[in-house]
Amino acid sequence: MECDKCDREAVMNAAYSGAHLCEVHFCRSVEKRTRRRIRSDALIPKDATPDEPECWVIGLSGGKDSVVLTHILDETFGKDPRIEMLALTIHEGIEGYRDKSVEACVELADDLDMRHELVSYDEEFGVRMDDVAESDPLNMAPCAYCGVFRRDLLERYAEEFGADKLLTGHNLDDEAQTALMNFLEGDVKQVAKHFDASLGSFEDRHTQNEFVPRAKPLRDIPEKEVALYAHLKDLPAHITECPHASEAYRGEIQQLLWDLEENHPGTRHSIVAGYEELAKLAADEYRGAGEADLNDCENCGAKTSGTRCRKCKLVDAITAV
Ligand SMILES: [Zn+2]
Ligand SMILES: [Zn+2]
Repeated sequence: MECDKCDREAVMNAAYSGAHLCEVHFCRSVEKRTRRRIRSDALIPKDATPDEPECWVIGLSGGKDSVVLTHILDETFGKDPRIEMLALTIHEGIEGYRDKSVEACVELADDLDMRHELVSYDEEFGVRMDDVAESDPLNMAPCAYCGVFRRDLLERYAEEFGADKLLTGHNLDDEAQTALMNFLEGDVKQVAKHFDASLGSFEDRHTQNEFVPRAKPLRDIPEKEVALYAHLKDLPAHITECPHASEAYRGEIQQLLWDLEENHPGTRHSIVAGYEELAKLAADEYRGAGEADLNDCENCGAKTSGTRCRKCKLVDAITAV
């Protein structure tokens, strides 16, 4: 099959768009869709100037998604004096797996000459995920602990490094899964919160002052295309899956979406587009609901509905073992 735009051999055929693209035109298309998303999300405020630049902290795990995001952001804005970028990597204490991906992060940041910061569960909480997966004091999936710790560190350090926004590498498949899971959960207030925290255009979002708002510039790009881009550009991505990964429900949803996409190309795109539009309506409706009840955690000061935040409770349970 030939490329739609030149006479080179196509490396990718997208059923959802009908596009056949060669290596060069495929990579350009990924970059173009990412830049278009950054524009339509209004990620760069109009008042950003070289004297008062916009600061982006990029969550860099070393997996293909965050590596591709970091690469494209650097290509696009690396020389833009209105934008400052730094990459933040979190070491969960997973032997082998994370050591390898940290190497990938260091290599990429080095190649791009980008500031790189590394923080670990061990240094921050005295916790290593290998031990948590083993002891599992609350009898839940390792990902459940890990997600709470990661979110805490990303938010805390993004703020410490003066970030205006925290950018993560979530792709179209991730977002379609989350959208469907939230929808099936039936918690509309959660959907409303999701919008202001990490979806849609910054012109429509009401971002609170307590935490750094998130953005996901790769959320129009299917996972397979992110992987192909990383491969074609020979980026130092670490592909292996986490040895503790066990989000069974997300796995079911993923399979469901693959099956739907196979028979109805474009399903992921339409789920994500429709979900964002509904989430915006929900956010407009529910904004502010329940926020007045939040306290500061007695131990770490994070916002919580009780007296001690979820992260501190988890650390308590783990260190009590
Ligand atoms: Zn071409
Ligand atoms: Zn706390």
